Amino acid sequence: MIISKYLDGLNKSQKEAVESTEGPLLVLAGAGTGKTKVLTSKIAHLISLRKASPSNILAVTFTNKAAREMKYRIGQSLGSMVEGMPWLGTFHSIGAKILRIHAELAGLKSDFTILDTDDQLRLIKQIIKSENIDEKRWPPKLLLGYIDTFKNKGLMPTEITYNQDYQFANRKASELYGLYQNRLSILNSADFGDLLLLSLNLLKRNTDILNKYQNIFLYILVDEYQDTNVAQYLWLRLLSQKNSNIACVGDDDQSIYGWRGAEVDNILRFESDYPGAKIVKLEENYRSTEKILGAASGLISYNKDRLGKTLIANIKDEGEEVHIRSVWDAENEARLVTDEIEAKQSKGAKLEDIAILVRASFQMREFEDRFIMSGIPYRVIGGPRFYERQEIKDAISYIQVVSNSNNDLKLERIINIPRRGIGNSTLQALNKIARSNNISLFLAAKQIIETDEIRGQTKIKLANFINSIELWKDAKSSSHHTDLVKRILDESGYTEMWQNDKSPTASGRLENLKELIGQIDGFDSIDGFLDHVSLVMELESDTSAEKVSLMTLHSAKGLEFENIFLPGWEDGLFPNQRSLDEKGNSGLEEERRLAHVGVTRAKKSLWITYALNRRVYGLWQQSIPSRFIDEIPEEYKDFDAEYINTNNYYQQERQSKYKNFDAGYTKNNNNYQKESQFTREATGTKIPAWKRIKKNNSVTINAEFQEINIKRKTNFIEGQRVFHEKFGYGKIIDINQLKLEIDFEKSGIKTVLESYVKIH
Ligand code: ATP
Ligand code: MG
Repeated sequence: MIISKYLDGLNKSQKEAVESTEGPLLVLAGAGTGKTKVLTSKIAHLISLRKASPSNILAVTFTNKAAREMKYRIGQSLGSMVEGMPWLGTFHSIGAKILRIHAELAGLKSDFTILDTDDQLRLIKQIIKSENIDEKRWPPKLLLGYIDTFKNKGLMPTEITYNQDYQFANRKASELYGLYQNRLSILNSADFGDLLLLSLNLLKRNTDILNKYQNIFLYILVDEYQDTNVAQYLWLRLLSQKNSNIACVGDDDQSIYGWRGAEVDNILRFESDYPGAKIVKLEENYRSTEKILGAASGLISYNKDRLGKTLIANIKDEGEEVHIRSVWDAENEARLVTDEIEAKQSKGAKLEDIAILVRASFQMREFEDRFIMSGIPYRVIGGPRFYERQEIKDAISYIQVVSNSNNDLKLERIINIPRRGIGNSTLQALNKIARSNNISLFLAAKQIIETDEIRGQTKIKLANFINSIELWKDAKSSSHHTDLVKRILDESGYTEMWQNDKSPTASGRLENLKELIGQIDGFDSIDGFLDHVSLVMELESDTSAEKVSLMTLHSAKGLEFENIFLPGWEDGLFPNQRSLDEKGNSGLEEERRLAHVGVTRAKKSLWITYALNRRVYGLWQQSIPSRFIDEIPEEYKDFDAEYINTNNYYQQERQSKYKNFDAGYTKNNNNYQKESQFTREATGTKIPAWKRIKKNNSVTINAEFQEINIKRKTNFIEGQRVFHEKFGYGKIIDINQLKLEIDFEKSGIKTVLESYVKIH
């Protein structure tokens, strides 16, 4: 009979969890123990026992991808009997669905628009202005952050008490929040947070509607319960109040969204919230080999604030050690990973079984470039590819306009980013002149500012902008190209725009911009860089189904792969310095949980790499291997000589720099920040002997890097005939570190990067 199919193979505890369908149930268990499998099997069980039809089950997953996967698996276990589960999805997608049905009760129409952050901000700015609040003193982004926090806590404007309010323009945050909600309603719009908040509020205020949904949702199932925020928690409590058939699964060691308002306490107080709740522990891990599991358990044991759980490997295979490798820099890191992927491929591994998980999205760029050049298809999960990111496209557009100011499309993109008061009507006027005179927008703008076609502020603003472009163009021949790019991004106000942005994505965007500048530094001219970009863009559109996955650690939650690569395990990058600075020890513990999530994604093979040098904003900095590497027990690690050499030194360094968080952390924070800046610009004694190179105080790390780099072995010799992917065949005329000057047969003399050149 079909029923037994999905129960077969479940262990005793899993079966118990699946079969206890009535009443509250909590499965609190470690990674890879089958929590998600329990949920999927439970849904199959409920449907095949006819306890509920698919449309009477509310199942909350963490991502849309997870929802699709779950649907597929349920279909498989039931022999594709399942016809659609309308209530299986993320909190936001289900919230939006409920809100559309009852939009009128929330002051909206059912076709309301969902706003993005840009729109939200524009609206907040308008409100701040109309309230005569000084925008400089009280930045709109700050208010946006506060409003998000209110929403995460499930608070409508009228529900905010004096103590909960924020110091914004004389404690006006909640009042402004109210005005903002009114405006949204007038515009028939909702922001992302509203999708849940308004549907929660709707259920709170309308017992008939609450009743209706309590009767629809006969069974409620929630994955990744440790990462629910207060609003989500309250929403679930309301919906499950009537019959209490709620099954939540989670792992306190994988709570990684504290920064976005998630409250791990939700999982810890489940028993008191639902008296008589059944608690099931799962202790067998079915995902990873013993060594990977040992590494993960050893690492997470350094966290003090945890329940502590046993994990036993079901897979009776010791497996490989966790491979720890040091690399010179990010470029070598990408090369090492790519080489290893190719080696695995030649042994029969499939690309879809391989994933690279990074701490910060800027790290992806180096991998994307390498994959593109090596012809390895890849996909970026949970976000755009590097060159498709908004901030990267904007920055490149600026560079392109300076390189060729007649590039209309790019000029149009940046003419009012950041907002400089050049609106649509001006743009239309420019387009009209450009078309009728058959000239570019830039030339049209140059002409229009000489005339009286436009007046007042608009004219001044446009003239200033055109003038800036002219200045940057002039500087092209006289200043270093990297400095020029920095200057463009600064003087245009673009960098500042993101610096003032208080939304959660802003700091990542600034990091991406820094990465871009670092990358540009590797080329010897702006045009060389732009050539590279066009080549990369061209090659990117490949359609093969088999791809390596590239994503952040945050978006890897719940997923698993045969082979995992974890690059950039360096103190400062991972654990992330900002988390440490802002939240001290609890920040460190959240970072460690994130590391634990990364390690536990791997089934068979795990590679952790760290670069000895990382370029931050065009400047080389030496880095210290992440303390998390040290925390993985020796018996599960395989490391290279470099690591052994340096680890003692690093231990001392880490201790002196970071380990005093608990005691008076906040007080010392300022001093500490200053100190860490100094150690970065290290004096001779702070540089380990193996790295010490003849130096005096005036030699910076950057110069040191150059010095070492010159000694790097190159495979090329002058006069050699070589092949370059873009420029074809040519002869090397000069070798300068990583760069080769080549006289190409078709395209003349160009300077290119060694890594893109093959010997022929
Ligand atoms: P995470 O905490 O990472 O989300 P999880 O607890 O949700 O992990 P699952 O993803 O459900 O774990 O399961 C991990 C792997 O183990 C999956 O490949 C799953 O198919 C497999 N698995 C789980 N239980 C069993 C079992 N009883 N027999 C065989 N394989 C199992
Ligand atoms: Mg899971």
